[in-house]
Amino acid sequence: MSASALPRPAPSRFAPPSLPDLAGRTVLALHAHPDDEAIFTGLTLRRLADAGARTVLVVATDGDLGGSRIALRPGETVGQRRRAELEEVAGMLGVARLVLLGHRDSGLPGWSDGTHERALAAADPLPLARQVAAIADAEGADTLLHDDEQGIYGHPDHRATWRIGSTAAALVGVTGYAVTIDREHLQLVARDGHLVHGAARAAAVDYGRVTAEIALAVTGTADELARKRAAILAHASQIGPDDVPSSTFAAAYGYEWYRRSGAPGVLDQLGNAHLVAR
Ligand SMILES: [Zn+2]
Repeated sequence: MSASALPRPAPSRFAPPSLPDLAGRTVLALHAHPDDEAIFTGLTLRRLADAGARTVLVVATDGDLGGSRIALRPGETVGQRRRAELEEVAGMLGVARLVLLGHRDSGLPGWSDGTHERALAAADPLPLARQVAAIADAEGADTLLHDDEQGIYGHPDHRATWRIGSTAAALVGVTGYAVTIDREHLQLVARDGHLVHGAARAAAVDYGRVTAEIALAVTGTADELARKRAAILAHASQIGPDDVPSSTFAAAYGYEWYRRSGAPGVLDQLGNAHLVAR
């Protein structure tokens, strides 16, 4: 942590830049599990849709190892419940098309699940990158979102979606935005207040990047933050209201951070909170 770093204000204290007209633009977002799209890119996906962009959400696994904090219906599996939650959230975030790649959750580092024949972490990333690139190409996507090279917090499935997503962006030749976390910001304003803290502890890994390594921060209004929280909570099998308290939500989840490969693209047009925050 840099001693000179200052916390930026909670996003609700200033108005983010007004939405640009993104009609005709298409963005593909690749995520590892149902719920990652809301936690890490919920503001971004909703703002893109509100600005007129078409968004395509590709989720690599069903998150079948996540367990459930609520009772399932008789015969229902965790994977089935999580897919249903994801479909609901895709609608809430204005996603135009949802694609499930159908791989198996790989579990935390060291779990034997990571070597299961259908585990995402054990899959050859190149055919999957070609599959994602083909979707992006068919959709005319000019921007890809995917996890960063550390898998945000080291989860094997998130590392896999870095390999798949960054390769797909290179294959298509479009701007890639790697989703990350600003660990300095969180340390200063939301210490232990983000779901990634517990996840990183469980995986015994570090997480995120320092502020200076991050190109772009997307934020939103208080209303947009409330919609993001509702989207996270619609993943009710995984996350309850006490996991994302309203009182600290803006501090912990009010920014979505990206490292960019390639020329400034569609996300830069949503406004970079690194530059506008005071
Ligand atoms: Zn995940």
